[in-house]
Amino acid sequence: MGLIRALDEVRRFSHEVREQGRSLGLVPTMGALHEGHLSLVRRARSECTSVVVSIFVNPTQFGPREDLGRYPRNLERDLGLLTPFKIDAVFAPDAGTMYPSGFDTFVDPGAVAQSLEGALRPGHFRGVATVVLKLLNLVRPTTAYFGQKDFQQAMVIRRLIEDFNLDVRLALCPIVREPDGLAMSSRNAYLSAEERVAALALSRALQRAETAFCHGETRLEALVDEMKRVIAAEPHLQLDYAAVAEAQTLAPPAVVIAGSVALIAARVGSTRLLDNLILAPPGTNDEDRLREFETRNSKLEIRNS
Ligand code: AMP
Repeated sequence: MGLIRALDEVRRFSHEVREQGRSLGLVPTMGALHEGHLSLVRRARSECTSVVVSIFVNPTQFGPREDLGRYPRNLERDLGLLTPFKIDAVFAPDAGTMYPSGFDTFVDPGAVAQSLEGALRPGHFRGVATVVLKLLNLVRPTTAYFGQKDFQQAMVIRRLIEDFNLDVRLALCPIVREPDGLAMSSRNAYLSAEERVAALALSRALQRAETAFCHGETRLEALVDEMKRVIAAEPHLQLDYAAVAEAQTLAPPAVVIAGSVALIAARVGSTRLLDNLILAPPGTNDEDRLREFETRNSKLEIRNS
């Protein structure tokens, strides 16, 4: 597994892979890897002959009062976690390599990036879309792997791929959770034992909304209220938003249906946590939810292939 730092080196690597007609998977990450990231690597490994994992804490997607400075970084540990997967390369550029002095062009994502995370974190998706476009241009993968954990991000990138006619397939992978339901996140490392318990209310709120949906509740406000009640009962949590949205656009749905997405974000202490759930009939597992979602929303992907 090579460690690539320089842009010309990653370009050369990608050129060689394509020359040989091999498929190339890219898993973009900000490091501090956990089983959620590794599930993406595993899927890429099973689908592609070559795999690159990028590790880059992208400064342009952090707001001035966010946690860029304290975001966990441990390249040695990350490389150790990736070793068993026998991937081809880790691409870990410096901020100055990705954004040299004079850098002055950004991607401006549209409506899908305006609500929810976009409303709370101005400029966040502009930074995300910009760095993802740069990574896709540098690595030129056949497939890029993203987690459902950052659902809105995945929809922003889907739109980016479609709108800029990028020749890449986006693969969306299910959320990996701790045994008690907490969605895995690099930011979970910030949580105290007490906060860790409080954080469970996010997945509980989503489950509560789904239970109500499965009992026939399809009114948007009623489902959102279910989630709000669960969060309100947990004094350590401050709700940022609870929403049910249309999958592709993240707009509020006229009618909530199976395939609509419940999304929640809350702060515990100074840590922000996100979670979401694609609503489905009782007993549907996460892979099936996502498969169903991909089937229903495959139009963007098909038009690009
Ligand atoms: P990050 O390092 O937070 O930028 O995440 C890199 C990729 O891993 C993104 O596509 C995330 O959606 C994905 N990811 C993060 N946490 C999880 C999780 N618990 N399950 C599945 N994918 C995840």
